[in-house]
Amino acid sequence: MLVVTKTHPGLVRENNEDAILVQEPYIYAVADGMGGHASGEIASRSALKAFGAATHSLRRDSSEHIRDTLIEAVKKANNHVLKMAVSNDEYTGMGTTLTAVYLPGNGTAYFCHVGDSRLYIYRDNTLEKRSHDHTYVEDLKDKGCITSEEAAIHPERHILMQAIGVEENIHVQCEIFSITPNDRLLICSDGLSDMVTDAEIAEIMLEADTEICATNLLEKALNNGGRDNVSLILIDMAQSPKKAEEVSENV
Ligand code: MN
Repeated sequence: MLVVTKTHPGLVRENNEDAILVQEPYIYAVADGMGGHASGEIASRSALKAFGAATHSLRRDSSEHIRDTLIEAVKKANNHVLKMAVSNDEYTGMGTTLTAVYLPGNGTAYFCHVGDSRLYIYRDNTLEKRSHDHTYVEDLKDKGCITSEEAAIHPERHILMQAIGVEENIHVQCEIFSITPNDRLLICSDGLSDMVTDAEIAEIMLEADTEICATNLLEKALNNGGRDNVSLILIDMAQSPKKAEEVSENV
């Protein structure tokens, strides 16, 4: 497995309110914070810290508890950020997305998500979005009021229906799916998915080198305008070709 992370403030904003968590073994998460002053940064970092602390026990958990542990960890992150937001005037109104994957290495991926950051799976040259955008326009799309194309450029597409740290009750999307050694997983903030279409992401994914692919995704977001902070975690389930060569040389 090869994991490459990228985060960039973009070309318009001064702060980077996105945050990335890589917690060995095998917890990967992106959070995209929002709020006045520097509170968006505080929200995303605090949420990932709380989430990371609450998922430390996963190593010891039997598989039937994993789902519960993940949902509980997201709820702990929610309570943590909410508590900060209500106890400090500077943090009023802050919040964050949180999209995380747990890969215990048994061919199974566990995924939990709140907000509009995204998880994609790239398999057999096909890109599939697995996370549900908790946005106003996604709800309109689900109701059949607008098309995917209209949703992608809708002026109110950034309005979130739920986020971490805003309300006590949240509904966590949590799914379990199987993965193969040929799959790639992409977790990203909307600074990527808003600037780069799914078709463009799929085309960039044709690049076999994981590091170059991740760089190309970031650069595409910047070249397309870079209007928001851009963060991504690209997880290649296959061993890197480089490592395979090194092994054969040693033999
Ligand atoms: Mn964003």
